Amino acid sequence: SGLHHQALKKIRSKAQLVASRVTDQHIRLAVTGLSGAGKTAFITSLVNQLLEAGHGAELPFFTPSRQARLIGAQRASQPDLQLARFEYEQGMLSLNSDPPAWPLPTRGVSQIRINIRYQHAQSLRRILSDTATLVLDIIDYPGEWLLDLPLLEMDFERWSEFCEHQLHQPERHELAKDFLVQLQQTDWLAEGDEMHLKALADSYSDYLHACKDAGLELIQPGRFVLPGELEGAPILQFVPVPHAFRGGNASAIPDGSNLALVKERFRQYKEKVVKPFYRNYFRQFDRQIILVDCLSALNRGEQSFKELQQAINWLLKSFDYGNNSILRRLFASRIDKLVFAASKADHITPDQQDNLIRLLESMVHSARQDITYQGSKIQTTAFAAIRASQVGKTDYQGKTLSVLKGTDLKGKPVMLYPGDVPSCCPQGDFWQAQKFDFPAFAPPKRNPMSALPHIRMDQLLEFLLGDKLG
Ligand code: GDP
Repeated sequence: SGLHHQALKKIRSKAQLVASRVTDQHIRLAVTGLSGAGKTAFITSLVNQLLEAGHGAELPFFTPSRQARLIGAQRASQPDLQLARFEYEQGMLSLNSDPPAWPLPTRGVSQIRINIRYQHAQSLRRILSDTATLVLDIIDYPGEWLLDLPLLEMDFERWSEFCEHQLHQPERHELAKDFLVQLQQTDWLAEGDEMHLKALADSYSDYLHACKDAGLELIQPGRFVLPGELEGAPILQFVPVPHAFRGGNASAIPDGSNLALVKERFRQYKEKVVKPFYRNYFRQFDRQIILVDCLSALNRGEQSFKELQQAINWLLKSFDYGNNSILRRLFASRIDKLVFAASKADHITPDQQDNLIRLLESMVHSARQDITYQGSKIQTTAFAAIRASQVGKTDYQGKTLSVLKGTDLKGKPVMLYPGDVPSCCPQGDFWQAQKFDFPAFAPPKRNPMSALPHIRMDQLLEFLLGDKLG
């Protein structure tokens, strides 16, 4: 019976193992989007909804909340000590101040861990243990960094050509004037001059910032506008050198020349900055949400919208699991759910919400035809992390119209109809007739004890976490 005892013991320890696997799960949810897309507001709201889920958060489409199975959520201490901590409390202080202010965005990678305690839905699992914990790590990183993935497939000459093409587009040429003059004044084959290269890189980075301010989203290298911890490091001190400026042929680049230095730094940037991001962080994400600010791009006009479309195209390369993709070759990843979400949907009236979802769908779809997503589920939606407007009605020429009421950033009450959202990528003549326009709203005034008002955060929670809380 000693043997019998042994066997029993084995079975029991196995059962315990299964039980602990069932009860404690861990999930890494990555949040990205170009800067200004709404990542900070989204994470703040998501954490707030989870913390408040048991006390009045309105989450009818989030199954565990609707079934009253969420016991409580708590912030846990930071798992990765070398990452910045996502400043949730700071953000809530801003939103709760008088007048309320939007949380300050983070600039690099940041992280927050939440332990969610819940009851299983199935009774069998309930027998194994009463309550379970889902450990949720949320990682926030700039979408601009994903725009660098295509660099891995380019050498310095090709990248320079690509940039040259961009530098001569009419909208950019004007912004690039100073940089182009400095480029012209550089003797590329002369002995390397560190100070000069630094000044050039600063000028190039000013140009990229100016592009961003003008709503031109296609910027490379991503770290030039969002350097994170690399601010001021020589690895960021390189610039594209268009063919016409290079002089001579590529084989005759003297060692130690300006040209040799920038080429080497470009190579190192790919090896020491771009690749490690994918290797050390990206590869570990389980789920990913990409926020897209379609409405601001519509506000800004045709070129901005086109660039956003192109940026989505580039972003998507980071989720292409096809055999030939760079991702597959270098960094096998395991994202099983990918969400594209159009942010700030409180800037449009309820009748326009479907159009916004369809618009984003058409942008993603036209980009992803040649992309293989093995095993990952993709969803497209529109949401507002923090609803800053109220819907009202007004009579206009004998008809009742939905309008939005809110407060602008100067604290003045506004009431408006922002316009119709096109349901697919707009073509040329749309932009001539385009009247789409909305102001930025201030965050809503509310009781600080209440959960943040939102649009469809519960549906996002359901898609991103619902199955893990079953
Ligand atoms: P990030 O750079 O991606 O982190 O973007 P933020 O979260 O900082 O958002 C940028 C700005 O967009 C905020 O300061 C707000 O003005 C606006 N915003 C973000 N989310 C919402 C939202 O849900 N509703 C409204 N009305 N504005 C939002």
